[in-house]
Amino acid sequence: MILILDKKATHPEAEQLLERLTTMGFKAVKEQKGDRIAIAIVSGIDANTKEEHFTSLPLVDHVETFSQQFKLAGRDLREKQLIIDVREKTIGSDALCLIAGPCSIENEEQIHRIAKSVKAAGAEFLRGGAFKPRTSPYDFQGLGAEGVQYIQDAARENDMVSVSEVMDLGQLDVALGKIDILQIGARNMQNYSLLKEVGKTQVPVMLKRGFAATYREFLMAAEYILNAGNPNVILCERGIRTYESYTRNTLDIGAVPVLKELSHLPVIIDPSHGTGIRNMVPPMARAAVAAGADGIMVEVHYDPDRSYSDAQQAISTETFAELVPSLQTIRAVISNPNIS
Ligand code: PEP
Ligand code: MN
Repeated sequence: MILILDKKATHPEAEQLLERLTTMGFKAVKEQKGDRIAIAIVSGIDANTKEEHFTSLPLVDHVETFSQQFKLAGRDLREKQLIIDVREKTIGSDALCLIAGPCSIENEEQIHRIAKSVKAAGAEFLRGGAFKPRTSPYDFQGLGAEGVQYIQDAARENDMVSVSEVMDLGQLDVALGKIDILQIGARNMQNYSLLKEVGKTQVPVMLKRGFAATYREFLMAAEYILNAGNPNVILCERGIRTYESYTRNTLDIGAVPVLKELSHLPVIIDPSHGTGIRNMVPPMARAAVAAGADGIMVEVHYDPDRSYSDAQQAISTETFAELVPSLQTIRAVISNPNIS
């Protein structure tokens, strides 16, 4: 239920009402809904709870019901698209968010060199894995804490925002204060303990869709982070597993309009893991922007074939530099359809 307060209600008054609801056993959150303050009851409602419990409270003008199960990730409470600000860059605004970098941080020189070239090509966000979720335990597992330090330094030196994955709570401790956007990978999309823990921070979280997750499951995973108190969630579609085995995954571009309709959270597309094939990355990146994605995340290396991980899907720094202007042109058309 969503309590819509009187026009005259002030924020301090709404805070008092929140406290009262908490003592009544409800979990509630405050949000601005148009010109009104709204208080959403997210849990504590049972079969005995009647609408009258709320309409009789002071300040409550009327009560609305949620039309979606993802109460905080949806658009019932917050209609407007979320714009996340991080280190003076934005995700979800008119500016296209370009996240680029290697699959894995391999050494200090490598991440600095790639940071410099992707930044020169127009990327403001630097990706790089320090803790790698590898299918085989015998494959390169990442540089760990050392890698976290390297990507932080490379991001700072190039005025970029760092994006890196954490897989458990110990890694989260290492990353906090150093990584600007925490990535939760596809394999951990439903690791609820981890979701709750990143939800206790205010650090933006990029949540990747599990390869067998429905949109509902994806948004419910996001809901865990939001419900724990962190509103800064970015959704990332990275391909799902289908019967097609030619590509690594099937990139679900359709996720963009669906997630945008259902949710106010920014949507990023990862055409690298979504296809697993280098030559497919530029066309699918363009398709993602054309579909209305807020940005893309791509794996880039100066020597793609020698990448320690995901070499087949890495594009060269040159290819990335050629790709960016076409993405910006498509974005401009999307934001202003009258452009000729
Ligand atoms: C990655 O982005 O480095 C990664 C491992 O992706 P995913 O979780 O989508 O497989
Ligand atoms: Mn990868």
